[in-house]
Amino acid sequence: MEVHRIRAAVLRKKGGPLEIESVEMEGPREDEVLVRLVASGICHTDIDFCDDWDEADTPVVLGHEGAGVIDRVGRSVKTVRRGDHAVLSYESCGHCRQCRSGHPAHCKRLYEANFGFKRLDGSNALQRSGVRGHFFGQSSFATHALATERNLVKVSKDLSLELLAPLGCGLQTGAGTVMNSLKVSAGKSMAIFGTGAVGMAAAMAARIVGANPVIGVDIHPMRLKLALELGATHVIDNRHDEVASRIADITGSGVDYVVETTANPKMHRLAIDVLNPQGTVALLTGENGIDLPEGRRTLGIIEGDAVPQRFIPELIALYRAGQFPFDRLVKFYDFSEINQAIADAKRGDTIKPVLRISEV
Ligand SMILES: [Zn+2]
Ligand SMILES: [Zn+2]
Repeated sequence: MEVHRIRAAVLRKKGGPLEIESVEMEGPREDEVLVRLVASGICHTDIDFCDDWDEADTPVVLGHEGAGVIDRVGRSVKTVRRGDHAVLSYESCGHCRQCRSGHPAHCKRLYEANFGFKRLDGSNALQRSGVRGHFFGQSSFATHALATERNLVKVSKDLSLELLAPLGCGLQTGAGTVMNSLKVSAGKSMAIFGTGAVGMAAAMAARIVGANPVIGVDIHPMRLKLALELGATHVIDNRHDEVASRIADITGSGVDYVVETTANPKMHRLAIDVLNPQGTVALLTGENGIDLPEGRRTLGIIEGDAVPQRFIPELIALYRAGQFPFDRLVKFYDFSEINQAIADAKRGDTIKPVLRISEV
């Protein structure tokens, strides 16, 4: 197999900083493609991994919102060729019942495929350098990544790859929650707890499906202001206002849906408290759902139940139509500024950082 010398941001210290190093990568295998990355979004899962990572573990390369140009194609790959532009998304096995029935977000091997830091056969393309890759089937904080046809979405060349990069995880998750998982219909009321990239995507989708009212809740005034422009009909500043009573003022009761993105136990509790009978709290926080009295329920959601090859083109079409203006969320950084980008996202100053890795 070919060996490529690449540059990758390696996590060797709990909480970072990430160090950009030279690393050897083996591949692509016959079912893989080698992607030269043009850009990568930074998602909160990357940041959480950085902070929770155990230093006794082998160093890893994170990043799971890659976008780039196909550089080499394995023998059995049919749907893309060298020179194509692609957005990378989450990985799935392609063989289990859920994958075969069109629900890869419920893949039986989802955890291994995305968080295992190896291929599903146990191998690791970065082994020679003593580093683990394959995060979400990509590890996109690097100049090159290996991907498969299951987590690769071919995109048109007339839109810039650096803009499209964040569609692969955070934006797909927020919009997919509203459009695929909850299938929210016109006139339903919704609160969105946390107006980061995922919450903003949910707000844009809520406007598209005609939900009303759509109430954004956050502690950053800058984000609340933008939420009003992008899809929220009302906002509540959680530092100054009492959320439950403000929601009651706005709706006259509670809300039909809460999209909970904060992973704060208090907000989880509050989400249930403000829910109408038959209502649903969508947990985008890694927790599992449960049934509650009066038909209320919480629902654990992964990647907005999106099939990336179908949903990402849909989001791109909505963007072109002016209905999904996610460019408003993005701030670009040079690859070498990766630690600054992470710090800005943690503070809440940048909603969606995107790293510029190479020229198209
Ligand atoms: Zn599967
Ligand atoms: Zn993510």
